[in-house]
Amino acid sequence: MRSESRKRRKTKPSGDDVIISLENVSKAYSTGAPALNGVDLHIKRGEFVFVVGDSGSGKSTLIRLLLRELVATSGYINVMGYDLSRIRHRKIPKFRRNLGIVFQDFRLLKELTVYDNVAFAQRVIQVSGKEIRRNVPSILATVGLAGKYKAKPRQLSGGEQQRVALARALVNRPSILLADEPTGNLDPKNSWEIMKLMEKINENGTTVIIVTHNREIVNTMQKRVVTMKRGVIVSDEERGVYLDEDY
Ligand code: ADP
Ligand code: MG
Repeated sequence: MRSESRKRRKTKPSGDDVIISLENVSKAYSTGAPALNGVDLHIKRGEFVFVVGDSGSGKSTLIRLLLRELVATSGYINVMGYDLSRIRHRKIPKFRRNLGIVFQDFRLLKELTVYDNVAFAQRVIQVSGKEIRRNVPSILATVGLAGKYKAKPRQLSGGEQQRVALARALVNRPSILLADEPTGNLDPKNSWEIMKLMEKINENGTTVIIVTHNREIVNTMQKRVVTMKRGVIVSDEERGVYLDEDY
């Protein structure tokens, strides 16, 4: 039985506080069944959302649509006021500046130090040297890497590498942080530390969306949980839990 504290979301939020809207969104790749099939999802500014579901259920496709790496086959997607089916190509870099993204495999630049991996994200958007020297140490301290500026990725543990990736995702102060299985390569202790950092970032106002398979973390943290199955959202609950596979 469902506990009373878990409320089903029925009402569609509206107004300025909605930062992500998907309406009847489908995405078909050239082969196979549609990866997403008529998805409706509304996320308000400042929410913390877990996206769970079996492998192949469409979670990464959802994230890639939000980044505008992919374009929907049909339906409407709006992120931070940008209509993603109409956005002009030259506007995409500016749009992405307000998104931070973290992946399972860290994707750091191997030849660069911790400091330069994070500074790079600022250099590409032409932040001044003075600001970079202020922002990079500050964000590295936030993720607990103050003593590791000069290390290269291969000298770091998986947990440390993911902290660098998180610092890089956050240094430009994005409105939204997207994470696709950020703890998939980490042990339980590091997984918790990364999740707690993301919770702290969310408490400071960033909207956070995390795809995960980590049942224990989802069940403990009591956040909104969106469950996907074969390209559709089968459940969307405030303070939800990781549903059984046969749901
Ligand atoms: P998840 O992240 O939940 O594991 P994905 O979004 O990666 O799911 O995949 C959803 C479905 O789309 C799967 O059936 C997958 O095989 C298919 N798919 C994903 N990417 C591609 C692609 N580039 N080309 C063709 N099919 C793809
Ligand atoms: Mg995936």
